[in-house]
Amino acid sequence: MAVATTDDLKEALDVLKGTGVRITPQRHAILEYLINSMSHPTADEIYKALEGKFPNMSVATVYNNLRVFREAGIVKELTYGDSSSRFDYVTTQHYHVICNDCGKIVDFHYPALNEVEALAAHITNFEVSHHRLEIYGTCPECAKDKKTVES
Ligand SMILES: [Zn+2]
Ligand SMILES: [Zn+2]
Repeated sequence: MAVATTDDLKEALDVLKGTGVRITPQRHAILEYLINSMSHPTADEIYKALEGKFPNMSVATVYNNLRVFREAGIVKELTYGDSSSRFDYVTTQHYHVICNDCGKIVDFHYPALNEVEALAAHITNFEVSHHRLEIYGTCPECAKDKKTVES
């Protein structure tokens, strides 16, 4: 997620209103959490962060709400071939670097690779819809932990 402000929340709420999605207190809280957390939380993490506030809420409710947001185009679901999808508030186009050890996802910005899409379309005759680029490595915290273990 890129730098988030209260403007982002207001904008997201406007988009939802525009698509006819009812803003319940839960939806408001989930969206606020997603925009303010600089991580890319799973539905479970959002649930754990908010369960104190909404004792009647379940993980399934959180997930259903995230799906509503995704369909409205304000949230991106990042799937990694397992059940733990992560969710990202859609700001400007950005890429992710992912830690092999702890799974942390950090944003970085780089000009959109439109030329690569055009090239792929040209070579394969596909109608290209989007692309996905992920960089993998070890985050500074995990690198530090490893060094302490070794020494
Ligand atoms: Zn992101
Ligand atoms: Zn790490």
